Amino acid sequence: MPSHAGIAVDGMILEAYPNAGSSNLEEAHIVRLTDTILTVLVACRGSNLFIERGKYKNHLRFRIDGVRCEVSVIPQEVLIYVKKRIQVMASLEAQEELRLPRAARMECVLLGNQIRLRIATLPTMWGEKLVLWVNEDGQSPIELHELNLENSDLETITRWLTDTYGIILVTGSRGSGRTTTLRAIANRATDAAKSVVILEPDFEDKVSKSTHLYLVYRTNLSVTTVLERVEAQSPDIVIIDSYWRPDEAVRIAATAKPNRLTFLTMTAGTPFAALNQLRDLGFDDQLVSNVVKGIICTRLVRKLCPNCKVTMDLRECPEEFEALRETCAEANYAMPEKLTCCFRVGCEYCLGTGFYGRTAFNDVLNLTSDILEDVLLGNARPEHPEQYLPYAAGSTLANGIRKISRGVTTASEVARALKRYN
Ligand SMILES: [Zn+2]
Repeated sequence: MPSHAGIAVDGMILEAYPNAGSSNLEEAHIVRLTDTILTVLVACRGSNLFIERGKYKNHLRFRIDGVRCEVSVIPQEVLIYVKKRIQVMASLEAQEELRLPRAARMECVLLGNQIRLRIATLPTMWGEKLVLWVNEDGQSPIELHELNLENSDLETITRWLTDTYGIILVTGSRGSGRTTTLRAIANRATDAAKSVVILEPDFEDKVSKSTHLYLVYRTNLSVTTVLERVEAQSPDIVIIDSYWRPDEAVRIAATAKPNRLTFLTMTAGTPFAALNQLRDLGFDDQLVSNVVKGIICTRLVRKLCPNCKVTMDLRECPEEFEALRETCAEANYAMPEKLTCCFRVGCEYCLGTGFYGRTAFNDVLNLTSDILEDVLLGNARPEHPEQYLPYAAGSTLANGIRKISRGVTTASEVARALKRYN
């Protein structure tokens, strides 16, 4: 066992804690170490903490800007006590023998701010795994312009909000910014004096100006049953976030009322995949063309740290050049001859990662009759849909290349985002 311990993110030691490695695991040591870990998590802008149990090794990890990183200098034996301490703080007594997943919430003051934490445990073969989510209190509602959408995409979404009928699909995997995008849309609609109801499975701690319903989760009612009750309130916009079963999709669409716009979330990685998923769910082509007005495909990329990024020609960094060349080749997209962009370096401000925060990298697709015809006639079904549908990959990459040339993010981040979601 090491004679000292500390907290290091990606090898950069942030806090040293001399007593944590000693064999004398006094409660006060564990309390202080746990407080230090949570403080560093918040100071690093971490959104999650993971304590994972393995056969030979336990892991403590943070998620910062959407990427998990190892926090490595905590001795194995001590980590188990840290996990127990977090459970005690959340009044979640250690009951590993029950082997049931459990969840709790707690509040604490870290770095002078009131922080709300959500904790969930999952029994595994080697012991309980713990995940912790951080939510800072006092957040203001996210606004649509803060998503850094392209101007044309912002205009499209704003135009949709004046519509009174139809379904907008919001697709993307968990953690792709789907819920944040929906909150921003809901806030814009509420500002425009629209009545908005959000149906979601659980309290996500996201600040919004609209009415939230957690009924689905609490009462185990189906989405369609809840929708019938919601109708009595005559909302202009209903947002159904993450909680509908595949067999309910067609019924949700069928109950679309002439005076209601519905936003429906899906997990497809591209607009094209979303349309095909709808077909697989039993939507016939007529229903798709009648009710689906548009698709927003959400992705997030890490932003370059403004403190340490350097400007160079793309060819000066072979790794970045190769990342963009490969992505363009896969999408059959012409790579720009010359591209001046920024590269990451790493400094104290960004914890040596070269990135600070994330930004949206979305596809916003208005389903015009031409596009629908391509999809419905089957032209978009061949192996490389992007060759048939100019919107599928080309515009996404063009959007990514604009972000690279503006020095917002790197070529490898754009490549990573597209690989992950396509
Ligand atoms: Zn930096």
